[in-house]
Amino acid sequence: MARYTGPVCRLCRTEQKKLFLKGDRCKSDKCPVNRKRAAPGKDPKARTGKRSDYGLQLREKQKLKRIYGMQEKQFKIFFERALRMPGITGESLFMLLEQRLDNVVYRLRFATSRSQARQIVLHGHVQINGKSVNIPSYLVKPNDVVEIKESSKNLSVVKESLKEFGKAGVMPWLSLDPDGMKGTFLAVPRRSDVTDLADIKEQMIVELYSK
Ligand code: SF4
Repeated sequence: MARYTGPVCRLCRTEQKKLFLKGDRCKSDKCPVNRKRAAPGKDPKARTGKRSDYGLQLREKQKLKRIYGMQEKQFKIFFERALRMPGITGESLFMLLEQRLDNVVYRLRFATSRSQARQIVLHGHVQINGKSVNIPSYLVKPNDVVEIKESSKNLSVVKESLKEFGKAGVMPWLSLDPDGMKGTFLAVPRRSDVTDLADIKEQMIVELYSK
């Protein structure tokens, strides 16, 4: 599956919002958003002017898609799946995104960013319920145990991430055993549980795709 390989900080600068795509750097003074760098492009002011409804909806979709490190085609597939689920589509979309294996690996603090988590999964370092799974978009189910494979427990990226971020704990729908490098996906979170993305207006994304 193709993925974005350009400069990632540029994506945050475009949105003028921290999307937390680079792990440690995002929390440091080196973050270009912290340093109030202008939006990229020849005329950054043009990007900050009044936007149409379509422009606002598009930006909201781009933000969420980039936060979860997805390309348009796969994001649309997730949206269409959310559309078929009972309940509010925007909320269902969040539930599906949070179930992605790369996201769960990131949320369990095995990686400092979702892109690093994706690499850890792709390189076969992760097991679910004792079986190797190397598909970043795999949907983790309630009570699944997600673990770093025994032979990969020396991986410095995982150790350092757990040391750096493990102390902060995990989201309430997860439990973590940092010494065992394993965690449990206790339940699918509700939209209101995903507090770190509370400012995303998912209804605008639904409106965009409904046009
Ligand atoms: Fe975004 Fe992180 Fe780069 Fe800051 S350091 S612009 S939050 S990716």
